[in-house]
Amino acid sequence: MSEQKSLIYMDNNATTRIAKEVLEAMLPYLKEYYGNPSSMYSFAEYPAQAITKAREQVAQLLGAQPDEIIFTSCGTESDSTALFSALHRYPEKNHVVTTRVEHPAVKNLCDNLEVLTGRKYHITRLHVEADGTLDLEQYRNSLTEETAIVSVMWANNETGVIFPIEEMAQIAHEKGILFHTDAVQAVGKIPINLKKMAINFLSLSGHKLHAPKGVGVLYIRKGTPFIPFLNGGHQEHGRRGGTENVAAIVALGKACELAAAHLEEENTRVRALRDKLEDGLLKSIPKSLLNGNRTQRLPNTCNISFEYVEGEAILLHMNRHNICASSGSACTSGSLEPSHVLRAMGVPFTAAHGSIRFSLSTYNTEEEVNQVLRVLPNIIAELRELSPFWEEENKA
Ligand SMILES: *Cc1c(COP(=O)(O)O)cnc(C)c1O
Repeated sequence: MSEQKSLIYMDNNATTRIAKEVLEAMLPYLKEYYGNPSSMYSFAEYPAQAITKAREQVAQLLGAQPDEIIFTSCGTESDSTALFSALHRYPEKNHVVTTRVEHPAVKNLCDNLEVLTGRKYHITRLHVEADGTLDLEQYRNSLTEETAIVSVMWANNETGVIFPIEEMAQIAHEKGILFHTDAVQAVGKIPINLKKMAINFLSLSGHKLHAPKGVGVLYIRKGTPFIPFLNGGHQEHGRRGGTENVAAIVALGKACELAAAHLEEENTRVRALRDKLEDGLLKSIPKSLLNGNRTQRLPNTCNISFEYVEGEAILLHMNRHNICASSGSACTSGSLEPSHVLRAMGVPFTAAHGSIRFSLSTYNTEEEVNQVLRVLPNIIAELRELSPFWEEENKA
């Protein structure tokens, strides 16, 4: 693919490229060291030792102990494991606290708990403010004797808005309630040190931090009651059955080591690129609005609404310039449904439909940002020419 060279990839909250160093680290476990880490001969020691090392690398990035880390198949599995563990451990409790802006991995799980468990659950879905932030008083008041678990994402995948997870976990802890955070978007982008935090469960996913798809981690704080989700062999000390995906686990370990080394750059150079892109677009394109709190936000994410245009149309036009980003509306069953996150924030209909998320990584360059700033204002202007709503609005 010759386009590969000029591809401007700004969709890193959807997935990331595998880092060169990560690919190199994992390949020997696909080519040569294919032994089953549970086997008794020396040949199996290579993969077994590689998993031990990866566990240490993950723990190091999170400020955790290696035995608090279990490897899973993805972020979604980690989320499900944490929630089901708490619900099975406390069958007498029928209340779950979460937010209106969770990723589908938590949102759809909570929406379907009754079907999945055959039991009735009361779910509190915390409201967010117009800028996507949470009101802690509302949260405090939602917790009851019946609450089995709280599940709140650390950072939002669509807007990048960061929640005060340390404080929220502490509040749950004081009431004796388990706390889970989906930190898939936070890990590698903001510093995390679980040592001093009251978080019981934390989920992360390999493919959001330059490791391959199909591997994740669940952090389980020492002393947290735990019931496995996948029951089978004795892998992961009996906490997750299934033969280990050795190469992907090695990759995730290496990616965590790289993430620690790149954290500084993520919060300086990548943040500056994001800010340049954001300020440039907001200045040069009329009726464009930033979605999400400007400061309590991931350094790589920017979500902007361009009023009176369809996000999907913008994406198609950007695609012709080899620019990859995401829109806040998904074309489901023929109707354009604005994202549940933007709806929860009360973003007006005309703006929610034209929202675009740019999510950068350390692989983006200033030249790429300049290129987007060159082409996008024209794309929006052309699309608005075709919009009856835009015409009507600007006749008056
Ligand atoms: C991508 C993502 C997930 C799902 O991770 P997978 O590994 O794709 O299952 C969960 N939560 C958030 C916030 C995400 O961005």
